[in-house]
Amino acid sequence: MINCAGFLERSGVNGPGLRAVVWVQGCPLRCRGCFNRDLWSFGKKWLVKEDELAARILAVPGIGGVTFSGGEPFCQAAPLAVLGRMVRESGMSVVTFSGYPAETLLSSRRKDWRALLEETDLLVGGPFFRECRTPSSLCASANQEMVSLSGRITQGHGGEEGGTGVEFTIGPGGEVTTTGFPEREILFCGRRCA
Ligand code: SF4
Repeated sequence: MINCAGFLERSGVNGPGLRAVVWVQGCPLRCRGCFNRDLWSFGKKWLVKEDELAARILAVPGIGGVTFSGGEPFCQAAPLAVLGRMVRESGMSVVTFSGYPAETLLSSRRKDWRALLEETDLLVGGPFFRECRTPSSLCASANQEMVSLSGRITQGHGGEEGGTGVEFTIGPGGEVTTTGFPEREILFCGRRCA
């Protein structure tokens, strides 16, 4: 099961091309200036089975894959690896954001972390430092690093195809999801989709 904070079927600012986005609930890193403080708590939000979420992602027309964001995806690495495998087996790609530095993740022997890395095409790693903020790439601050793990998504791909900015999505019930790199005053909605 994945403890999911939010799900968006289609976004143009969370990786290359149009992608579904899964925000996981819970992050221990507490970066200063974090956009998503509502996602720090590890309390239960929307517990969803991997195959159920995979089916929802695969049913969305016109997307190239899914992005895992948070919260901290590597705190739920095992179930996200299962979901990532299901998505990639259908020819789609996986982008994973993490507050852990890429070097820390890539050198780890943790089986669950390695499993998620194996199902990740593009890793965006590193804590968010407000003073290093940059709006010019998928990295929210300049210390963060994009690492192409499979070759399916190259390092420049995200920036060239947009992948940045702020996006507002109005759902069928009128709920608004804000994503991308908003100013501090604009908060992530964290829409539940159960
Ligand atoms: S890793 Fe992401 S969600 Fe966690 S505190 Fe840092 S910016 Fe916020």
